[in-house]
Amino acid sequence: MVVVKTIKEVRETVKQWKKEGLSVGFVPTMGYLHEGHQSLIRAAGENDKVVVSIFLNPMQFGPTEDLASYPRDLERDKEKCLESGADLIFAPDASEMYGDNFQSFVDMNLLTQELCGLTRPCHFRGVCTVVTKLFNIVKPDRAYFGKKDAQQLAVIKRMVADLNMDIEIIGCPIIREKDGLAKSSRNTYLSAEERQAALVLSKAVKKAEELIAAGVRDSAEIISQMSAVVDAEPLAKTDYIKVVSLDTMQQISKIEDSALVALAVYIGKTRLIDNYFYEGE
Ligand code: AMP
Repeated sequence: MVVVKTIKEVRETVKQWKKEGLSVGFVPTMGYLHEGHQSLIRAAGENDKVVVSIFLNPMQFGPTEDLASYPRDLERDKEKCLESGADLIFAPDASEMYGDNFQSFVDMNLLTQELCGLTRPCHFRGVCTVVTKLFNIVKPDRAYFGKKDAQQLAVIKRMVADLNMDIEIIGCPIIREKDGLAKSSRNTYLSAEERQAALVLSKAVKKAEELIAAGVRDSAEIISQMSAVVDAEPLAKTDYIKVVSLDTMQQISKIEDSALVALAVYIGKTRLIDNYFYEGE
């Protein structure tokens, strides 16, 4: 496994692989890797070669968000990548990605108006821009994204279709701790007490799953019962709990064939997300 910091090195390596007729899978990350990331890297193993990017993208953080405190440890990340079968790590500096006079952005309407897009106004512009750049640099055949970031997955799929990017986007299941908490680099912010309180997210998701399995289709009913779960925890403060269309990410009042039930909750100062994809019976 090779670790490179420049765009030129990635291009040279991938060019050689393509010359040899090899397929390339790509997993974009912000680093501080855990089992969730590793599951994507393993899934990407269906390609001949696997590229992982580790880039804490400043453009997708708001001015009051946690860019400065976000955990970083490249040595630890290298081990995790090696363990899971990556061939190349691209770990650029911000200057390599954005240079001195960066002026171009990729943005999206509709799908970014609800959920995290509402709470984090410039977030998806940062995500779309960096993912487009990474796709242009790596030129993968397939790219792997976690369903944990459900809106991000929907946005990337839309972007690839809208802009005719010749890349297959593959959504991978949410990996959880034994007690249900979705794995996240941000879980490292939690104190022992907060870690326990954070279980309200997966409990609320489970509640939604049970209600839908029992035939409940009214979004207000699902949201109200999920809110009751979150509100019972004094350390938790709801950012949003919503039921949206999988295609448009717009709120729906009644679930028909499919839906995304998503929530974001502050546990102390840490904002965590979780969701349930309902894709029909
Ligand atoms: P991040 O480093 O947080 O930007 O995440 C990089 C990729 O890993 C994204 O596609 C995430 O959706 C995915 N990911 C993060 N946590 C999990 C998880 N618990 N299960 C599955 N995928 C995840």
